[in-house]
Amino acid sequence: MIIFDEKKYAENLIKNGYKNEKYIVMDNIILVKYWKSIGLSEDEIKNKLRIFMVKFQELFNDNIIKYKLNSAMKVGMKYDLLTDICVGITNKEIEQIKTLETIELQRMMFILLTVWRFKGSPKRFRINNTDLMNLSGVKLNSNTFWDYIHQITKTNLLSMVEYRNKSYYQINIEENWEIVLHINKFDNVIDYYMSIIEPEKYMFCDKCGVPFLPTGNNQKYCKICWEERNRELWRENKRKHRNVQV
Ligand SMILES: [Zn+2]
Repeated sequence: MIIFDEKKYAENLIKNGYKNEKYIVMDNIILVKYWKSIGLSEDEIKNKLRIFMVKFQELFNDNIIKYKLNSAMKVGMKYDLLTDICVGITNKEIEQIKTLETIELQRMMFILLTVWRFKGSPKRFRINNTDLMNLSGVKLNSNTFWDYIHQITKTNLLSMVEYRNKSYYQINIEENWEIVLHINKFDNVIDYYMSIIEPEKYMFCDKCGVPFLPTGNNQKYCKICWEERNRELWRENKRKHRNVQV
């Protein structure tokens, strides 16, 4: 699972608890990084994490809490929280992606490129099939998936490389610096690409600027800003109502 904004992820975690047993090790590390980022001391962080784990105790044996706590502290204290990351995509890159034959291939390649940039343009990188399909909105069975990847690698944009017995993606794209897309919201990241391909269908949020596909008339905000605004209005109404009663 790729987490594009660890701050948001941590805040959600604190509010709702662990979502999946599979991710507890990663979740704990992110919590440590988050509490470090808001200025808590090492002792305070350790304490907070212990309380958090006890709160969701059904997932833990008492005797492993100490062990899990120490391993999360060890990694989390070393790294910074990943938040507010902006990925730039250049017009040349968009042009190269557009040369792929079908829109599905283009969508997948756009996501590969974005994730690669998000990770800091490393020599090689990995992303699991489910993440790639979810982010690009292209749903395929395993055979077709690899067939599509194979089709993309027929161009020079992408290759698959083996490294220490694992397969990695490698992106071979010409660098140039005319950035046309500044991606800083990753909730529906494929919309950035689609807004270029089908500009007549897309709008840009009045509040945060992300491209979105409107579902009705007179929509000014993306889904996330719209929900946020509704919550604000609701709170405001509640406050006004209370003031009247006083
Ligand atoms: Zn918005």
